[in-house]
Amino acid sequence: MLKPFVTLGAALIVAVFTLAASIQAKLGGKGLPFSNSTPAMDQEFRDSFRRDFLMHTNIMRNEFTVASLKNDPEIEAFITQMVATDENPENIDLHTVFDALQQEFPGAQYLAANLVSAGTRESLLEQLSAWDELAHPEFHEVSTALVPAGRKLVAMSVLSRRIPQFSVEAANNGGGRFFNRCPHCKSVHALDLDRKNKTLILSCPDCERPYDVLAADSQGNMRRAYDFFTGFEIPSETAVSGSKEAVLALWRQVADRCTYEHDQTNFNESEVWKLSDDTWREKMGDCEDTSILLVDALITAGFNARVAIGWNGNIGQHAWVVVDIEGEQFVIESTIQENPTLEDMVPVHEASPFYRPEQLFDRESLYFQNASPEHVSSDYFGDQLWTQVSKS
Ligand SMILES: [Zn+2]
Repeated sequence: MLKPFVTLGAALIVAVFTLAASIQAKLGGKGLPFSNSTPAMDQEFRDSFRRDFLMHTNIMRNEFTVASLKNDPEIEAFITQMVATDENPENIDLHTVFDALQQEFPGAQYLAANLVSAGTRESLLEQLSAWDELAHPEFHEVSTALVPAGRKLVAMSVLSRRIPQFSVEAANNGGGRFFNRCPHCKSVHALDLDRKNKTLILSCPDCERPYDVLAADSQGNMRRAYDFFTGFEIPSETAVSGSKEAVLALWRQVADRCTYEHDQTNFNESEVWKLSDDTWREKMGDCEDTSILLVDALITAGFNARVAIGWNGNIGQHAWVVVDIEGEQFVIESTIQENPTLEDMVPVHEASPFYRPEQLFDRESLYFQNASPEHVSSDYFGDQLWTQVSKS
């Protein structure tokens, strides 16, 4: 039996959006160093300003025993471009800045921005340093853009914390928080990955549809469902290719060879999926292992076959095989041990009261249901009924 899945992705990206009021320094024209001309601003000036600001900020954070901030060069380049190309940088709408930042950096989970202007470097630094958010422990980076505007200096500072995009590789380097973009509705959301879970179905909190299926292999590494196929080929059979008999012959090889491996009692920690080769060599496996092996062998033999994972009325969470033979679809119960016969190949419409598929996969794609359980359980191959998410 397949272990119950853990659905992740319920946590939305909760961005700490904070705005700071633009503080227009009321400075008289006379007596100020930059009163009559645009302040000179070369790269050296910008760099030393940022350095000083970062230093002030981290001294203050250290006093509050909050970890130091680092600079985020990508965000800094982005906001520098924004303020440098704005005709009126003193009045940039910070909501627009947030929207642009979130578009460009979907992993920027926490954001705060501040916009200040002043006639002198010292006044600018003083205003920026008075920003309450600078002591906030959720932020990891600070980025500052500096431009001249008329007789003033304008500084935009952005506090941020970016989380990595989810990938199988990242998941294998440890759990934690990731962001991901839903392939169905394209929304960006955060997910917390707990590596204690061996089988993962990632779901989108916005459209509430699952979009990824991963499992741990016997080495403990996460793989996408389709990466458990190895292109396995069962020794050739004499039955006519493309026929029910050919399918039965391959099924018998798997059923005769592989002992059904019962679930461990240790419920959440033992479930791993096996590669087709390993199930064949070890001569045992549970429902998803023998389903993966048989589907692999069927695909090698030229059949259109998929592993179905979902709900079985008698068993609970389960995995089985579906194969299309000249337009007719059959459910194959890969855990059957006794010599299976043609009668054991059940047309999908007869199996549908008991077999309710939720996700399918073959060597190239995952398929997520796009219609009611009644519809999808009677047609495992309909383009309209299943949303295909292929290997990229
Ligand atoms: Zn979605």
